[in-house]
Amino acid sequence: MIPYGHQWVDEDDIAAVVEVLRSDWLTQGPAVPRFEAALAAYCGSAHAVAANSATSALHLACLALGLGPGDRLWTSPLTFVASANCARYCGALVDFVDVEPHSGNLGVAALEEKLRVAERCGSLPKIVVPVHFAGASCDMAGIRALAERYGFRIIEDAAHALGGSYQGMPVGCCRYSDITVFSFHPVKPITTGEGGAALTNDPILAQRMALLRSHGITRAASALTEESHGPWYYEQQALGFNYRMTDFQAALGLSQLGKLDEFVRRRRWLACRYAEKLAGLPAQLPLCGDSSGDASAWHLYVVRIAAARRRAVFSLLHGAGIGAQVHYIPVHTQPYYRALGFRVGDLPVAESFYAQAISLPLYPGLATAEQDRVIATLAEALA
Ligand SMILES: *Cc1c(COP(=O)(O)O)cnc(C)c1O
Repeated sequence: MIPYGHQWVDEDDIAAVVEVLRSDWLTQGPAVPRFEAALAAYCGSAHAVAANSATSALHLACLALGLGPGDRLWTSPLTFVASANCARYCGALVDFVDVEPHSGNLGVAALEEKLRVAERCGSLPKIVVPVHFAGASCDMAGIRALAERYGFRIIEDAAHALGGSYQGMPVGCCRYSDITVFSFHPVKPITTGEGGAALTNDPILAQRMALLRSHGITRAASALTEESHGPWYYEQQALGFNYRMTDFQAALGLSQLGKLDEFVRRRRWLACRYAEKLAGLPAQLPLCGDSSGDASAWHLYVVRIAAARRRAVFSLLHGAGIGAQVHYIPVHTQPYYRALGFRVGDLPVAESFYAQAISLPLYPGLATAEQDRVIATLAEALA
């Protein structure tokens, strides 16, 4: 089966992990801060806080921004459930902003409209989480302008977008956001097995996330609120979690980060090849030409076909050994969110996007001959 996504792990990566396994530290050693520094340098942010998943990093980001019971977080419905669940962990309310029909990204016009209504009702959000669907950045300048007008904070869910850029700057530089979160799950741009990170330019937010990542405990002399009992002393200052990344995962991440540009180049080449070879089929293809400094990280290649044919085409692909996927079942239609009052029909653009979507295989190791098989099978299925 040709999967829709797959990690690239080679001998260098394995050697980097083995080196840590032979060292004194499996966790809380030198590899995690090294990976964090490299990630921050790559993205052009001041700080990076590594975590054991993007889900944990989203939770830390919400806590650091003070999200609590009664507060509201808005995100896209066309995403993985974690983008919304982070608010529920904090006891906050979730609402969704519909997406743009072409990009699948949270739409600035829809956001503005919803903010205008919320202002009248006294129900403005504390945090908005734009999701860079498939690896292409949302209109962050537009979202930031609204943040300044309506007073909300921004967490970019960039789980798909490490290696992409927006206005010529790397996604993760946090030029327009408070915090940017990445995932290192194996299908994402680089992997640490499980893993994630939160990037920020704000030293206070970075410090809060680092504290909450490790039980709310600090040992830093400068951060102590009471007199030290001695060299063994530590203080628990808040109710934190164990959301730490291990050192061997960070070593893998560091090794992978060195290959990221090559991974993205290969993904982009394959995406452009899909665009060229699928042109003319009854399918809507993602825009391939990157313009004005905006470059997708090409996490996913999502084509859209007539909703009535989607299930049959999906089955034909799987029957031919092509592990296509569907991104995403709109979060508000999940049973958990329907029990909170959401209904099918609430976010019509995301729902129609979902009904038509199929993600074709796209990953650095996808061979040209395999891609040709995907193209030929899809063409036959759509004929
Ligand atoms: C994968 C993903 C996450 C969660 O990442 P984990 O590292 O698996 O916790 C969150 N948001 C989006 C958009 C994702 O694709």
